[in-house]
Amino acid sequence: MAVNESTFAGKEASRTASERLRESTPVDTDGRAAVSFLFLQTNNMKILIIGGGGREHAIAWKLRQSALVEKIWCAPGNGGISRDAECVPLNVGDVQAAADLAVNLGADLTIVGPELPLVQGIADEFKRRGLTILGPPKMAAQLEGSKIFAKEFMERNGIPTAGVYGVCETPDDACAKLDSVSWPVVVKADGLCAGKGVLVTSSASEAKEFIQRVMIGHEFGEAGARVLLEEGLAGKELSYIVLTDGSNFISLAPTRDHKRAFDNDEGPNTGGMGTYSTDGMLTRELEEEILAKIVRPTLAGLRKENMEYRGFIFFGLMLTNDGPKVLEYNCRLGDPETQAILLRADFDFAAACMDAATGKLDASHAKWSKGASVCVVMASEGYPANPVLGKSIAGLDEAEKVPHTAVFHAGTKREGENYYTSGGRILGIAAVGESLEAAARSAYDAASRITIPGAHYRKDIGMAAAKQPKMAGVRANG
Ligand code: ATP
Repeated sequence: MAVNESTFAGKEASRTASERLRESTPVDTDGRAAVSFLFLQTNNMKILIIGGGGREHAIAWKLRQSALVEKIWCAPGNGGISRDAECVPLNVGDVQAAADLAVNLGADLTIVGPELPLVQGIADEFKRRGLTILGPPKMAAQLEGSKIFAKEFMERNGIPTAGVYGVCETPDDACAKLDSVSWPVVVKADGLCAGKGVLVTSSASEAKEFIQRVMIGHEFGEAGARVLLEEGLAGKELSYIVLTDGSNFISLAPTRDHKRAFDNDEGPNTGGMGTYSTDGMLTRELEEEILAKIVRPTLAGLRKENMEYRGFIFFGLMLTNDGPKVLEYNCRLGDPETQAILLRADFDFAAACMDAATGKLDASHAKWSKGASVCVVMASEGYPANPVLGKSIAGLDEAEKVPHTAVFHAGTKREGENYYTSGGRILGIAAVGESLEAAARSAYDAASRITIPGAHYRKDIGMAAAKQPKMAGVRANG
């Protein structure tokens, strides 16, 4: 893809492998290379990415910047990803087919984007076949696959989270328990529901109606067989993601998502309409608290319970007056968090992923560019309820000319040189800048150059944070 000035695509071919290696190798303050020993030996890594959305496009884009990577496939990928990786067909829920594909392609490493294959045991199948994969085993992926499993794990391991009013196996039990809750209450269908399985409400009738839809109407199938009722927490949300090999970990740049469809957090919930990341969103004290009370106890709990976790852990946090609390775990990178995060990553992501997958992660890998990043999601007319698909996309080349930006494809298909919409979320238009304002200006400049009939995007991504006074003692460079 034609991306920003830091993208190596065009210049790359004319440089030697050793030049590329030297330039892409992060160097710490002593001048020592911060890349693991293993990958100074090789620069012909072949990587398979599982998934086909904006997150996977950002992963492919970042991997392409590594001098260690020779080949990238993405299964199934999408129209835009096909410019950065070879796309191969795959039903992502079919873990046997994914393992067969990795064998047939000769992939050295497989990186899993979405949660479904992880919850279905893709990592276990790869391990059984001796294949290298970045992603947790099925048991640990239950941290995302079952909200009740996650809640019980947090309770066993003393990790701060919302209090529980009940774990309910019948609608009668769930409705009865509503008589003794404090409002607002949060009703959660236990399993994976593509972002629709949670209701936060102060209305008993709304809660009961949701319980009926989930447990009697089976709106989410088996995922709604059990329901969790929990305390509604107040505060600001934060996405905090780590990459771990089970022992060591790298904290990724923190991000904040915008879930509602329209400006000022109005309209229905979506898969995510945009994200931002800045140095100023966490004080050092708050980050230390997150690490001490949440991240390290989670990793210790996983080890204690014999869950070997190699992959990304996404902590969906609420920053309450009583300190940070976990709303949810995800067992993978977020979408669209990844787009904003990888734009700020100033280290060899391929080496870090391989090291985490093989149990050799070196935390000195992580370097983050100072400043901020923003990702604005462009969505189809009618998204999220009834997205209208098949529209032509114009202006991509013009958008990609805006300095410091990258356009990541989520729901697109390609026909020759033309692109058409094929999903609710179409594009993630991302940019970096010295400040949140600068990053947002670039992202919105690029977005304004793209024309898709009926498409919409929020005009306020990161704006509330940009207006706030800067915090003292902020996080910088991980
Ligand atoms: P699904 O299974 O449908 O994909 P999910 O993983 O999106 O669900 P959560 O992340 O647990 O579900 O919750 C979605 C959103 O609901 C959160 O981002 C947050 O805004 C809100 N939420 C969840 N739990 C609480 C809580 N205890 N208090 C307040 N808000 C909450």
